[in-house]
Amino acid sequence: MQKLTKITASIGPQSSDYEILKEMIVRGANVCRLNFTHDVGDVQGKKFDDIRKISRELGRPVAIIADMSGPKHRIGDFKTEDKYPLKPGQEFILDNDPAPGDTTRVQLPDVDVLNSLAVGDRVLLNDGKIELEVTASAACEMGSGNKQCRITTRVVRGNEIWSRRGFNIPDTVLNASVITEKDRADLEYILPRNPDYVAISFVQGPRDIIEAREFIKARTKHPVKIIAKIERPQAVAVFEEIAEVVDAIMIARGDLAVEMPFWEVPAASRMMIRVCRKKNKPVIMATQMLASMMNSEFPTRAEVSDVATAAYLRVDSTMTSEETTIGDHPVKVIDTMAKILSAADKDAAENNPDWVKHENLPENDWSRSVASIAYLNKAKAIVVFGENDEHARQISCRRPDIPIVAVCDNAVAANQLAMMRGVFPIFDKKMFDARDTSAALKYVGVGPGKTVVVDGDSIVMG
Ligand code: PGA
Ligand code: MN
Repeated sequence: MQKLTKITASIGPQSSDYEILKEMIVRGANVCRLNFTHDVGDVQGKKFDDIRKISRELGRPVAIIADMSGPKHRIGDFKTEDKYPLKPGQEFILDNDPAPGDTTRVQLPDVDVLNSLAVGDRVLLNDGKIELEVTASAACEMGSGNKQCRITTRVVRGNEIWSRRGFNIPDTVLNASVITEKDRADLEYILPRNPDYVAISFVQGPRDIIEAREFIKARTKHPVKIIAKIERPQAVAVFEEIAEVVDAIMIARGDLAVEMPFWEVPAASRMMIRVCRKKNKPVIMATQMLASMMNSEFPTRAEVSDVATAAYLRVDSTMTSEETTIGDHPVKVIDTMAKILSAADKDAAENNPDWVKHENLPENDWSRSVASIAYLNKAKAIVVFGENDEHARQISCRRPDIPIVAVCDNAVAANQLAMMRGVFPIFDKKMFDARDTSAALKYVGVGPGKTVVVDGDSIVMG
């Protein structure tokens, strides 16, 4: 069986070569993620254009995500590139002074962050290896070069600190917009190319999505979909409200596991997947899925299990990160992930048909009826003809565990559907206009004589 769970591949220096990129898509990458934290401007523009070209060459819709860096905070420079010793219990100052740091202090360049930190808040540097606790805060004049703007912290954990370490502030609600000046500039660059999705990082609540949508709407008529990256506990707390207003979700476990207790991330992930299904929003499971393949040709047993678990949870897509951007074996990573997903999807469909439950949906829900008809008639596929992603997306969220062939009359809908579980999008105007069901079914290897559900309103018996 072809895999139903999609693969979102992060594209970086090790995967930018045209032939490698093409091979990754051939082996099962359905979505390409361009991460603007690492590359901007024409470096991303070139990858973008290449992905579109490969997609046309292969006749296979591919979704492109422009992933904004958001407020990923970093401390400033130290006097040298050396590591500076820290002692748990000692005082350490974070201030607005650009002078290089030492064992007593360092610059924290973002005044908004300095202003938002309150006594008792934690500052977690280097993926949580260093923990500082704020013991005295200070009101600073916004945007000024005021060198008096400083907060005092106590070192709780960590023995060394050095230049430009990233940090998380899990206890702090930022008063500033999570769409930074850099994000705005990156959006101005990429929006004219019509990305299928834009991902917003460190979302705190629904307001951030509304703001992003307004910014995008003011600049393009293209129906760009917005992904909320869930990587803050504040976002988990209001997840239903975010899911209501956003188009898709990424469970960004990298930062999320720093900002909340890592042992609670699996439970939070399951909650988010449930809500997404109910609200008809696609969900991507992200980060460290095959991380050991950075420099190994084989995954760890635990990674295999993590990827399979995501498939069993019926997420729309799993994701690759560094293993395909800077790792040694980008094609092998996609191949490995596709193999694991295919095996788990097949088993889930045969032995674990949980999708008939349709939790919390009204009896007369349209997509529930379609999925039920397919189930009761043991259909081999569902065929949908659509001008946008709506019908196929809703049926996909019922998780029918059979291919949903979505014939589209435009490339945008087809590309966006490439992210969604079990959907095999086809961009073919002729097939669409003729409502050519048998041609559509051929695409997923379902021959004549099989029972299928077409467009949700007829059952074609073999
Ligand atoms: P990032 O997001 O790679 O942009 O940080 C993913 C994550 O935090 O898990
Ligand atoms: Mn992140």
